[in-house]
Amino acid sequence: MTLHIPRIPGIDFAAVGKQFGHLEIEHSDNENDAAVIPSPLAVIGGGDGPTVLLIAGTHGDEYEGQVLLQELIRTVQAEDVTGRLIVLPALNICAVREGRRVASVDGVNLNRAMPGSAAGGPAQQIASIVAEELIPMADYVMDIHSGGNASEYVPSAFVYLGPTPELWAAKVAAVTAFNAPYCVAVKPMLKAGSISGAADLAGVPMISTELGGRGTVSVPILQRAKEGLRSLLGHWGVLKDESKPLASQSAERPIHWVQLTAEAAVHSTMAGLFEPLVVLGQKVSAGDVVARVHAVEELDRPAKEFHSPIDGVVAIVRHPAIVNVGTTLVNIAVDHGTTPPEGNHVPS
Ligand SMILES: [Zn+2]
Repeated sequence: MTLHIPRIPGIDFAAVGKQFGHLEIEHSDNENDAAVIPSPLAVIGGGDGPTVLLIAGTHGDEYEGQVLLQELIRTVQAEDVTGRLIVLPALNICAVREGRRVASVDGVNLNRAMPGSAAGGPAQQIASIVAEELIPMADYVMDIHSGGNASEYVPSAFVYLGPTPELWAAKVAAVTAFNAPYCVAVKPMLKAGSISGAADLAGVPMISTELGGRGTVSVPILQRAKEGLRSLLGHWGVLKDESKPLASQSAERPIHWVQLTAEAAVHSTMAGLFEPLVVLGQKVSAGDVVARVHAVEELDRPAKEFHSPIDGVVAIVRHPAIVNVGTTLVNIAVDHGTTPPEGNHVPS
C-alpha cells in the first residue's frame, strides 16, 4: 500500500523509513522564478501506530520550535517510531527565511489563514495543505510557537479550552506529559483560522506552546522543552522506548495554569519608550502599575503609567522598547494555580 499527496511530491506516507521532502507552494515573482517555494518536511514511518503532526515556523521569528524539530528529525530513526511522525520545522518558509512573523511576499499571518486556499498565495496554500491533508491524517498535532521578536511569554504549553470534554481531557493529558512550567489556556477562536482551531474542528487533540520569545532561544527553556517533547511523544505512543511520564515527575514540577483574556491586555495610549515594571510570572493585583511609557522628546512631560486590570500573573511582556498607541505592553493572566481550568467549553 502507498499513500501519496499531490502537493507533497515524492513522499509515500505509508512507507517505513525516514523520508525528506517538501510542501510544493506554487508562486512566481521577482525572487522566485522557479514558481515553487518548498516548505521542508520529514516523515519518519515505523509501521502501524498513531500519526503525530509536529509543526514549527508557522511564524518565522519564533526559533525554539524550529530548533527542537530540526534536532528531532536528525536524532529519531524509523526503528524508534511506532506509527508515523510528520515533521514540518519551517512551515511558513517565506517568513522563516526572513526571520519575520509573516512573510513580505503575502503579509498573511499563517496562524489566521486556516483552512486556506489551494488557489491563494503562499500562506493560503500552506494553510490548505495543513487543514485539508495533514490534520485529517493526524491522531495528534503540536504547533510550537513563542513570543517572536515582539514579545516574551512565560515558558508554556498553550491550549484552546474545550471544545468537547473528551478533547479537553486529551489536551490536559498532553500538557501534563509535556510538562512546561506554565500552561496558558484561552477561549477558542474557531473562526479566526488558527491551526488550533482547525484541529478542534477536525476533532484532533492538539497542543501549542509559547516557549519564551524575544527573537532568540533560551538555553534552559529549550532544554526543558526537549525533554518535554520526548515525554509527550512517548505519551502519544509514537516513540517506542520513551518511558511514560511519571506521576512523580509532574508532582515535582507542577504545571502552573493561567488563562489569558483579551480584557487583561494592557495597551499603550501613547507613543514612546516602554519601561516594564514587572517580570514574567510575577503576581500582581488589579490597579498595580505594571508599565510606564516615556515621551522620548518631550522632557517636561511625565511618564504615563499603565495599570493591571485584574488580579493575576504576568504572562506576556512586550520586547522592543519603542511602542505606539495601541501596542500591547503586558498581558496579565487569571491565575488557576496547579488546577486546570474548566475546559468543557462548547463554542457557539
Ligand atoms: Zn507564533
